[in-house]
Amino acid sequence: MLKGYVPPYNATVVQKLLDKGAVLMGKTNLDEFAMGSGSTDGVFGPVKNPWSYSKQYREKRKQKAHGENEDSNWLITGGSSGGSAAAVAAFTCFAALGSDTGGSTRNPAAHCGVVGFKPSYGLVSRHGLIPLVNSMDVPGILTRCVDDAAIVLGMLAGHDPKDSTTIQDPVKPFTLPTSADVNKLCIGIPKEYLAPELSSEVRSFWSKAANLFESEGAKVIEVSLPHTSYSIVCYHVLCTSEVASNMARFDGLEYGHRCDINVSTEAMYAATRREGFNDVVRGRILSGNFFLLKENYENYFIKAQKVRRLIANDFVNVFNSGVDVLLTPTTLSEAVPYLEFIKEDNRTRSAQDDIFTQAVNMAGLPAVSVPVALSNQGLPIGLQFIGRAFCDQQLLKIAKWFE
Ligand code: GLN
Repeated sequence: MLKGYVPPYNATVVQKLLDKGAVLMGKTNLDEFAMGSGSTDGVFGPVKNPWSYSKQYREKRKQKAHGENEDSNWLITGGSSGGSAAAVAAFTCFAALGSDTGGSTRNPAAHCGVVGFKPSYGLVSRHGLIPLVNSMDVPGILTRCVDDAAIVLGMLAGHDPKDSTTIQDPVKPFTLPTSADVNKLCIGIPKEYLAPELSSEVRSFWSKAANLFESEGAKVIEVSLPHTSYSIVCYHVLCTSEVASNMARFDGLEYGHRCDINVSTEAMYAATRREGFNDVVRGRILSGNFFLLKENYENYFIKAQKVRRLIANDFVNVFNSGVDVLLTPTTLSEAVPYLEFIKEDNRTRSAQDDIFTQAVNMAGLPAVSVPVALSNQGLPIGLQFIGRAFCDQQLLKIAKWFE
């Protein structure tokens, strides 16, 4: 829909970087309209994970599937901001921006072995960011280390008169201390995040990380986020409903693609949208319009909003009980080969992959995925820290200590 489109103004985050002297290298690939968890559904084709070409992974694959065509088993980056994660992982740039509505910065960061940071909702302006779910979208930051993420956050954070949801208070510079005392911290481990689909390797690194904090004197406790199991379906209803509304602006009239049909305005709208959107986007518009129908609105959209409040309150309760930060996996497993990813029902897999990340967006909290180790296959695994709203600096401080 927006192929070849050049926007007439810069997003606030882009302008802020330019104003501070950053050199912008280019735009990166992603799933169409940031809908996805694989970066396999973009108009420019799928994004390849640079780790597909690591020596260790290639050796392991060779042992596993003898004679397999080496080029056919490249790995997905995760998504939707997979191009940004790949660009940072491949050392082509210092940092990259992504967007994070349900995990799109943290998920590819985990799969590509880089840091993926989703700031608190309202800390960084969304002006110029194409909306997916306005009440959950946040520009995300991808870097190779936590310090770099703090530097970029310092450049981007703060009030923007063009985004009324940004905070009014002045923000202090985000400098991180060289060492942190973790022995006074209380780390929460949400018991509902022990998902059955979680790979045993991720699970084992998760518990090793918890042990590390404990051995350094932190208090590590099991906590409960009881509404976690509703978060995927709740996100789905809210996301598709907002998509149905947000995508209405792409009608072939104002900007973007326009088809050749000129029998009537309605026919032009329909054909433009059929041609301009991929089937993921069209599918979400369709579901969203179903949830927003007069007879469904109360039962789906309004109910999902109420469930969202319960999910957000779970975090409030945990943090009010004295927990400083939550430690969780970022993704269910390491990156999978592209051919495997598209074999299954892509959308079902996508949805499941976001189990650890989506609730954070519904609650507006800051969260960061940090690379923790390499799996048996030689692929990166990430863990996620979730902090209190607007305690982004403290969150990054802990993540830095850990990395
Ligand atoms: N995977 C989620 C989705 O497809 C989240 C996407 C995102 O954070 N942009 O909606």
